[in-house]
Amino acid sequence: MANRKNLLGYSEKKLEQFFLEINEPSFRAKQLLKWVHQQGELDFSNMSNFNKPLREKMKEIAVLIPPKLKQVLVSDDGTKKYLIELDSGSSIEMVRIPEKKRITLCISSQAGCALACTFCATGAQGFEKNLTADEIIGQLWLANFHDKEDTPITNVVFMGMGEPLLNFEPVMESAEIMRDESAYFLSKKRITISTSGLVPQINKLAERTDVSLAISLHAADDDLRDIIVPINKKYPIDDLLNACKNYLTVHEDKRYVTIEYILIDGINDSMSHARNLSKILSGLACKINLIPFNPFDGCDYKRSNNRNIEAFKKHLFDKGYITTLRITRGDDIDGACGQLVGNLKKATKGKKVVERQAIA
Ligand code: SAH
Ligand code: SF4
Repeated sequence: MANRKNLLGYSEKKLEQFFLEINEPSFRAKQLLKWVHQQGELDFSNMSNFNKPLREKMKEIAVLIPPKLKQVLVSDDGTKKYLIELDSGSSIEMVRIPEKKRITLCISSQAGCALACTFCATGAQGFEKNLTADEIIGQLWLANFHDKEDTPITNVVFMGMGEPLLNFEPVMESAEIMRDESAYFLSKKRITISTSGLVPQINKLAERTDVSLAISLHAADDDLRDIIVPINKKYPIDDLLNACKNYLTVHEDKRYVTIEYILIDGINDSMSHARNLSKILSGLACKINLIPFNPFDGCDYKRSNNRNIEAFKKHLFDKGYITTLRITRGDDIDGACGQLVGNLKKATKGKKVVERQAIA
């Protein structure tokens, strides 16, 4: 019982190995992936293309267990935030964001985060644990199957809690399942890994996968970035931008990386910051995603005012950058970027109106 393997986080390759070890043909791997990740089936007894002895055997040696859903909060704008409890007792959050043409799931890769960016609620919490592959893919499984009314997720972004590149193998394993045509069959463009800029891991990522890459830049000079994204002291901006270029060189068909830039009042949102940003990015094929800072308890930063946000965006736009402004979603349920801390929250009635900003 105690040694039964949880197959939820097994990629096709790993499942093939598993079935070979119990003297079953490797095509069982595809069959199992389809049951679990396309039908949402977790009970081996119902897997009708497994013969009876195999069904019995599977029950003895394996399990299929997603992480435990503790709470779902629905925002006025349709965004859903899920609180999930892990076996270790840690909690994580994920957010489902429906838009006109896609439904994005923002997932967590770690409980907490060790990198302590000064604007991030997850960073303020400190590091708790790396998620296993089943805890990562389990988030997508829950989003697709726990509520049959919900339409399936079309895009996944590793922008929830944690630094995905500090939990490399489980993130790769789960991304493989997302891509697998017998599972979620998401194209490489529909999976985005966001990183605060771990240069060696970005280079390693380039060798392993060609999913979309997003960089949390947030400052255009090392002095400021050293403070607000402390990992910059180890991997300064020049090295980081070179790693981005390398990612694009390795994947010739990839047209750009996404540069994320939070706008924090009085910290990084002046015109000189904008000019500096447009200058340093000039050699990189990129899209810029501006994110108005989302406040949280215990952090003194404020969101930039709309005038500064517009001026910043206009400068980048005039310099020829494709620049979008992230609409703040799920603010009323603390489901917006950087507000994820894994706490139970009372669903408030009469929620405040969610601020919306247009995409450029
Ligand atoms: N660790 C990874 C991925 C998780 S953070 C990374 O840093 O990229 C996901 C995104 O949320 C990042 O772009 C991050 O900078 C942003 N973010 C963090 N705190 C935020 C806040 N308070 N307001 C707005 N965005 C925030
Ligand atoms: Fe960690 Fe990303 Fe938050 Fe920085 S922004 S503390 S890297 S989760």
